[in-house]
Amino acid sequence: MAELRVIGSGSSGNAYILESNGEKLLIELGVAWKDILKSLNYKIDDVIGCLVSHKHGDHANKDTIKKVIQYGIPIYSCEETREIDERIINIKKGRKTSIGGFKIQPIPLQHSCECFGYLIETQDNQRIVFATDCCEFLYNIKNVNHWLIECNWSEEILIDNMCNNAEMRSRHEHHLELNDTIFALKENFSSSMNTIVLLHLSNGNSNEEMFKSRISEELGFFNIHIAKKGLSLQLQDDF
Ligand SMILES: [Zn+2]
Ligand SMILES: [Zn+2]
Repeated sequence: MAELRVIGSGSSGNAYILESNGEKLLIELGVAWKDILKSLNYKIDDVIGCLVSHKHGDHANKDTIKKVIQYGIPIYSCEETREIDERIINIKKGRKTSIGGFKIQPIPLQHSCECFGYLIETQDNQRIVFATDCCEFLYNIKNVNHWLIECNWSEEILIDNMCNNAEMRSRHEHHLELNDTIFALKENFSSSMNTIVLLHLSNGNSNEEMFKSRISEELGFFNIHIAKKGLSLQLQDDF
């Protein structure tokens, strides 16, 4: 069994801890290092590495990246993220990388800069997809147990907000819309699916309860969670 802890999710900063077999893998470094340390209970000797999706500040905070490197924790990402610090290790698409007991396969995503999602396999053969900050997700990945996937905005809510003159600040077009999240989950639906965690919800153009109920209606699947600061979730082998 693996455990997911959410330190932050959304445009104010993303960071997650994935723990399996006594090893912790950090995913994203878009919050202050002190917040990550606190969530790790100030214990970093079991942190084996960190995956970053892309160079935007809400995923790759420059000061946090420097700290993590200072502490000797390797950071892995796509080539463009190395603009922040060339000590970031560039993992290549189409090639599996081992980080401790985790096996990582990058999934290139379409965003406003180079961006990777990841297929993460644990030592217990749990398959986890992490995908955020993308306009679409068109892949077919077999037998995934846990989906950590962006569900940023809803067309319906966005149009309502536009008609009601709400100030539009979000760059919604580079993020996964509810119907695209549903499409991805439907295309990839299998009896192996145990958990869905919705990531990076927009501040103004989302609705947690509506997102959860739409997805459960469309998929007939109910173990759906919203990634919120402080959430701690057991990713069960069997649901
Ligand atoms: Zn983002
Ligand atoms: Zn981004």
